[in-house]
Amino acid sequence: MTLLAVFAHPDDETFGCGSVLLHAARRTRTVVVCATLGEAGHPSDRVTVPPEGLGSLRERELHEAAAVLGVDQVETLGLLDSGMDGDPSPGTLCATPLEQLTARVRDAVDRHRPSVVLTLDGSDGHRDHVRVRDAVLAAVEPDTALYLHCLPRSLAHAWLLERAGAAAAAEYAAMPQFGTPDEEVTTMLDTAWCYQTRWKAIQTHRSQDSPFDEISEDLRRRVLTTEHLRRVQPRWTGGRPEHDLVGLPG
Ligand SMILES: [Zn+2]
Repeated sequence: MTLLAVFAHPDDETFGCGSVLLHAARRTRTVVVCATLGEAGHPSDRVTVPPEGLGSLRERELHEAAAVLGVDQVETLGLLDSGMDGDPSPGTLCATPLEQLTARVRDAVDRHRPSVVLTLDGSDGHRDHVRVRDAVLAAVEPDTALYLHCLPRSLAHAWLLERAGAAAAAEYAAMPQFGTPDEEVTTMLDTAWCYQTRWKAIQTHRSQDSPFDEISEDLRRRVLTTEHLRRVQPRWTGGRPEHDLVGLPG
């Protein structure tokens, strides 16, 4: 059995939902597909960008993080990072027709035959995350379990409060819909057991300033010790949140 996780950029797998990957890796094969190498990301002052570009550095970080997260296989799709705004350049994720991107995701699904598929829900507003989400929603057959990883709005707002005044937070503060409405979360995984490993994976993405820098230890633990997801397939019909993923072996 396989869990297939599809992302736009290196670090989405770790900053976004690294503990879901750790949760799954104990019981199943995990595969990460990353559409771009995050070439448009802003490099941290900690690193020197190599002559071959930020993408090659971020690809190495992706593989390093995946090893920490117990991921069995990493694939990249060779598209380019669209960046946050402006006209997307040719070859970028957002310049690629949705049908083409969907076909690439479907190809990965056909080859790996996952029992669970995972991506980010795009509620941070990054257009590449939204694009990948839409392709995943279109590509996965109805009989496969499908989850969207969420940042609940209550935690998103707590993060904004702690980061008030920081440039990175100002962009998100301007978004009326930042974060997933808490009532849409269907699935809460207790991932306190893998906090240290998740933290180690976060450190491998040295070229990126993480959203967990410069926040309180209390908030960091709140975000990193519970993973919040929305189950799309099988369709959620209400009730108390579940605490495991449908589609994983018992
Ligand atoms: Zn991303």
